[in-house]
This record gives sequence, structure tokens and C-alpha cells, in this order.
Amino acid sequence: METFKNKVVWITGASSGIGEAITLAFAKQGAKLVLTARREEELVRVSKLTGLPESSVLILPMDVTDFDKAVPAAERIIHTFGRIDIMIHNAGVSQRSYIVDTDLDVYRKLMDVDFYSTVAITKAVLPYMIKQQSGHFIVISSVAGKIGTIMRSGYNAAKHALHGFYDSLRAEGYKDNIKVTTVCPGYIRTNISLNALNESGSKFGKMDSNQANGIPADECARQILQAVSKDKKEIYIGGLKEVAAIYLKRFLPNVLFDQVRKNIPE
Ligand code: NDP
Repeated sequence: METFKNKVVWITGASSGIGEAITLAFAKQGAKLVLTARREEELVRVSKLTGLPESSVLILPMDVTDFDKAVPAAERIIHTFGRIDIMIHNAGVSQRSYIVDTDLDVYRKLMDVDFYSTVAITKAVLPYMIKQQSGHFIVISSVAGKIGTIMRSGYNAAKHALHGFYDSLRAEGYKDNIKVTTVCPGYIRTNISLNALNESGSKFGKMDSNQANGIPADECARQILQAVSKDKKEIYIGGLKEVAAIYLKRFLPNVLFDQVRKNIPE
């Protein structure tokens, strides 16, 4: 099993929710952390919660859709810590709007945050991992990366795209000892629905009951670290309903399509 002491871990979306919980879980294991999100003050708050010395945490505020900043950001990490062992693509934004109402720009934004930003950052990090002959990408997809549901069309599309891209990276990276773990959480108790985009790209601003009753983010993080340490290729985290839906899609897709059609969100 992989252990994380002194491993250099770059986490996007570290300012809240699942990213914050992953940060604290790696901190407990003595990793060196790089924290990225847009809100610097929240990254400082999370950094203090880690209890790690300042020399073990690099706060690297960045909008992940500023794709040109990915290469300088990776260079800064190499300058600071000398290597990047684990890259956690966690920053993300969801959606709450029907296709017929949704502006094309909202789809572009969802693809930029949830998909293209991971490509840009991966391309910045990968050359260092190849040089090191080791590295591990953790990609926070979703059950929405396996199933298309109502009012999530762009989010579903972006999360599905992650699977295609990172399955390829897993295959291409094998010869250089580069691993990929794709994570599909179900409902996790975070602010994701509050921050989700509506049809015009504004924040949805409401807490979904599914998220409010979801599993705690620290339990999600615990399962993610366990999967990473065992080099799992793909994992599902959540309640029975969400995990069962993934298997239903695989083995009885028509039954799943009927269920999804009837499941009108609040
Ligand atoms: P939160 O809304 O709490 O966290 C989202 C994180 O992404 C924040 O840290 C936010 O930081 C960061 N972020 C968003 N946009 C950008 C951007 N443009 N640039 C940099 N950082 C950005 O939600 P979660 O913690 O739930 O979401 C984390 C991941 O988990 C996402 O990829 C989400 O799709 C996935 N997920 C969540 C599920 C759930 O039920 N909660 C279920 C399945 C998957 P800031 O605002 O400071 O930039």
C-alpha cells in the first residue's frame, strides 16, 4: 500500500467541501500540500486547519480556467518542493437547468471548469511525472460521469469526458509508472448545489436535499485516500441508490433510463 508521508500533493478546489476534506486527510498523513482554488482567504483558512508547518503547505490561488497559468503553477511547485507526486483534480461546478433554457456559454463554462482545466493542468504536470518515473492522478468525477440525469446535461457531459481522457492517460502512462484513480461520488454533503450554475450562468443558490442528506465530505475523503493507497482504477462512493444506478446503467440500461426520466429534481 502506498503511504503519503512527504508526498507532494496538489489539490484543486481545496477551499471547500470534498477538496478541503481531502486536504485535511493528506495533512494527517504528513504529506506536503499545494492548495489551489480562487478564494485565497479560504485556502489560508484550510491551510491553518491542517496544522502543518508553513514550509509544508504552498497556497497557490488560481482560477483553473486560466489555462495559461497551469504551466507556471507547476513550475512554482517544482521550484518549491522539487517534485509532484499526486495531482488531485477536484475543482468543479455543477448545473441546475434544462437544456432548452440553457445558454451555450454556460456549457462552455462547465466544460472549461470541469474538463478542460484538468487537461491543461495534467499537461503541465505530466512531463515532471514522466521525468520522475512516478506519479498518480486522482480525478474527481461523479456518478454524473456515468449517468445522464435531468437538469445536469453540461455537468454530465463534462464528467463523462473525464472518463474518456483519463482512461487514455492510464493506458499511456503505464510505461512511465503513472497511475490514474477515477472517483465517482454520489451525494456528498457540500455546497455544490449552492454553487451550481443556472440557465444563465448565475449561482443556483439553494441546498439540494440530496446533498444535505448526503455522506459527510470527510468520509468521502477517507475512502478516496484508501483507494489511492491501493491504486484502485475507478471507485464509487455514496449511498446504495447512486451506486446501484451505475450498475443498472451497465447491465440494464433501459431500466435506468426509465428511472432517470421519472426522477424530476426539486
Ligand atoms: P464545492 O462547491 O464545495 O467545492 C468546489 C470547489 O471547486 C471549491 O473549492 C471551489 O473553490 C473550486 N472551484 C470552482 N470553480 C473553480 C475555478 N474556476 N477555479 C478554481 N477553483 C474552482 O463542491 P464539492 O466539494 O462538492 O465539489 C468538489 C468536486 O466533487 C467537484 O468536482 C464536484 O463535481 C465533485 N462531486 C461532488 C459531489 C457532491 O455531492 N458534493 C458528487 C459528485 C462529484 P473557489 O470557489 O474558492 O474557487
